[in-house]
Amino acid sequence: MESNIENRLIWLNGKIVPINEATINVLSPTSQFGVNVFEGIRCYWNKKNNQLYGFKLNDHYKRLKNSVKMMRLDDKYSISEMEKGLIDVIKANDYKEDVAIRQTIFLDGFGSWSSTGPVNMFISPTPKGRAYDSKPGIKCCVSSWERISDKNMSPRIKVGANYVNSRMAQLEALENGYDSAIFMNNQGKIAEGPGSCIFIVRDNTLITPPLTASVLESITRSTIIKIAEKELNIKTMERDIDRTELYISDEIFLCGSAMEVVSVLNVDGICVDNGIPGRNTEEIKETYFKVVRGEMEKYINWLTPIYQY
Ligand code: PMP
Repeated sequence: MESNIENRLIWLNGKIVPINEATINVLSPTSQFGVNVFEGIRCYWNKKNNQLYGFKLNDHYKRLKNSVKMMRLDDKYSISEMEKGLIDVIKANDYKEDVAIRQTIFLDGFGSWSSTGPVNMFISPTPKGRAYDSKPGIKCCVSSWERISDKNMSPRIKVGANYVNSRMAQLEALENGYDSAIFMNNQGKIAEGPGSCIFIVRDNTLITPPLTASVLESITRSTIIKIAEKELNIKTMERDIDRTELYISDEIFLCGSAMEVVSVLNVDGICVDNGIPGRNTEEIKETYFKVVRGEMEKYINWLTPIYQY
C-alpha cells in the first residue's frame, strides 16, 4: 500500500480510527498540562524476509510502565495489551516500510494536573526514514539551557511536559545556526541532546554519561554499549563528561530511537577531530542497522515480527 500520512489509521482507546476521527478532549490534563507518558518506537522493514521488525518492544513497554508509575497515573494497560495495539494498528495500515510509532498514555477526562485518571492511550505509526539523511553529520552547541534534573522534572520519566526543556534548547540552537544542542546538567557535566543520548570517543574508548547524569534511560544507549563491546571490541565507559572534552574528542555522536546514530562533527564552532564522521561511529552505525533490521541472527530476540504469515 502507498503510505498516505493524511489517511493513516490510529489506535485510540481500543479502536482503530482514521486520523481525523482520533480526537481527544481539549480540557483533558494531557491537553492542558502535558500530562502524558510516551514511547518513540521504531519498526524496520526487512525486504529479504518480507517482514517488519519492532525493535526492543518489551524494553519500551517496561519503560512506559515505569513512566506511568513515577507519574502516579492509573496503571491501566498491560505490556501485552500495549504490544497488541501496536501490532494491530500497523497491520491495519499495512505498512511494509520503516515505521516510527508514537505510543502515548495520556491523562484524559476533566481533572487537573494532579489527577491520576482516567487514563487512555493512542498509538500512531508513521512511515519514517533516517534523520539528517542528507548530511554526513551535524553541528551542535552546548546549550545555555540546563537539563532538567531528578530534583525538579526527572529526565528519567518520558513525559510530554519534559520536552519544554528540549524545545528551549533546540530552538536556541537553530536560531544560532546549529542543527541541535547538547545539554549540561545541574552539575555542569554533559547530559544528553534534546531527544537523544550522547557518546564521545577518546583514545578508542566509547564514553557516555552515567544514567544519573540527568538523562533518559535510553534503549539505544544500552544497545550501543552492548554491540560496541560484544561485536566491535570497543571499550566502553560510563562516566561524567566535561564540556571541554567535547572539543578534544576524536568522535562524537548522538543516538536514540528516532535519531538512530548521528555523527556530531562540530561543537560550539570547534571541529570534532578533522570534521568528518569517525571510524568507530561508522562501524557502530553499520552494526546498529544490521541488528535492528534483523540481519544479525544473534540479536533476533530483540525483534518482534509484526506480520505472521
Ligand atoms: N534522551 C531523550 C531526552 C529522548 O527524548 C530520547 C528519545 N526517546 C533519548 C534520550 C533516546 O532514548 P531511546 O534510545 O530510548 O529512544
